[in-house]
Amino acid sequence: MKAIIHANIYKKDEDALLIDDCIIQEIASSENILKKITNEDELIDLKGAFLLPGFIDSHIHMLSLGYTLSIVSLKYCQSLDDIKKAIVEHLPKNKEELFVARGYNEVSYPYHKGPTKAFLDDISKDIPIVLIRACGHILVANTKALELAGITESVAYENGRIDYETGIVEEKAMDIILSLRKEPTKMELKHYLSLAMKELNKHGITSVCSDDFVSLTKDYTNPLDVFLQESYQGNLTLHIEEQCEFNEAEDLANFLDDGYTTGVGDDNFEIGPLKVILDGSLGGYTAALTKPYLNSETKGTLLYDTEDLKEIIHLANTYNMPTIAHAIGDKAVDQALEVFKEEVLENNPLGYGLVHTQILRKDQIDKIIEMKLDCYFQSLFIDSDASVLKERIAPELQDTSYPYKTLLENTRCANGSDAPVEIPDVLKGIYLAVTRKSTITGIEMNQNECLTIDEAISSYTDRGAEMMSHSDSRGKIEVGYEADLVVLDSDITTCPFEDILKTKVIMTIVHGEEVYGR
Ligand SMILES: [Zn+2]
Repeated sequence: MKAIIHANIYKKDEDALLIDDCIIQEIASSENILKKITNEDELIDLKGAFLLPGFIDSHIHMLSLGYTLSIVSLKYCQSLDDIKKAIVEHLPKNKEELFVARGYNEVSYPYHKGPTKAFLDDISKDIPIVLIRACGHILVANTKALELAGITESVAYENGRIDYETGIVEEKAMDIILSLRKEPTKMELKHYLSLAMKELNKHGITSVCSDDFVSLTKDYTNPLDVFLQESYQGNLTLHIEEQCEFNEAEDLANFLDDGYTTGVGDDNFEIGPLKVILDGSLGGYTAALTKPYLNSETKGTLLYDTEDLKEIIHLANTYNMPTIAHAIGDKAVDQALEVFKEEVLENNPLGYGLVHTQILRKDQIDKIIEMKLDCYFQSLFIDSDASVLKERIAPELQDTSYPYKTLLENTRCANGSDAPVEIPDVLKGIYLAVTRKSTITGIEMNQNECLTIDEAISSYTDRGAEMMSHSDSRGKIEVGYEADLVVLDSDITTCPFEDILKTKVIMTIVHGEEVYGR
């Protein structure tokens, strides 16, 4: 058994817990809990620290996160000079080797100017260089990398394009350049998974919904094998529900034929919904809008033909597998609603949903609520998107976009990071959900949609558990619930909002075992 005493437990008057067999057995006073244990049991004295249910991130990409942690990160670069320094420092000696770095975001750079082919050619003409934008929907390549991929002029595809002059490559066309990377082995995938788990546990995260099937590999088989093996061997330090991304109906059919569908798995690793990507990102002007972006002629790109989308979603539905759709622009949301309408039953029992819920019109919000769709939002996006929304999106859409409070009050919702798009920093996500004020630019978004601190915590705990269909065993500190817990160095429900950003995770517990401690 394990006892946790002298804790400031969220929403509880008692200050101690007894854990046995991964489960919270009792919640009582420290005095009473101490009476129950012997010298053989483990005792953790939190000395008044704040104890919460473990955080749940409802949408991330674990393998991409691990991969990103293993390559050069441009996340903290504030200018093109910073990017140049980061590249030069890590450029390989071997000229054949493709150099990949990820995480630039020109929104916060001087004049919003991002890297181009000319900028990269200046750094090297011999070594192929590729930089992936933070959103993961755009990359920039130097001449050498384009040459190796056989690109000598601009090309537009059905869903994606390559601009030879600037070296900017969008959406599906990125695959042509990224196929220069050699596909990771299972050993490498395991390494990425372990890097990701460490990073997530460090931020107090004990459960995730993760999308991994086609981000680093051509198909689902190797990632799925790795998750199943690591789960079987007891190596997972958090609960994972896989959001199964497939591009082609044929691949999905093979997966279903193998006996996989939503709900298959165990407490550690479970198959979740089908995940499809309908459009790009706002920062990259590739999110699909019904009206053009304010400072550009483009309306973004829909990645699916509606008939193809119907086919794959209907196929999943015949196996009781719901679909969640990445839809950032209102046009992509229209497409999702049109196709979902034919599959979703009353009250949405299977759990169809929308990932991101960013640019929305009032009529769409009404439909989402009426159909009771699951909404996976990311309050961390407010940091970069507050300025993007003001500069690029029509004024009439400002008040109905990122409507977190309205959605939280009226349908099933949960918060997340979309890591590696954002660092999976839950406390920053909570701060942004309650303030809706960018820490980069100070720009605020519609303040009517600010969550209360309790709602923000809920969006990362019990609401996440509800999304994972585990609301009776996760996301709360209650007797009979799994002992997935996080300890913070201060009480974020009583401190000024600014102090949430200074708060630190001091311990993370999964299944009653400490997986992170500082
Ligand atoms: Zn994502």
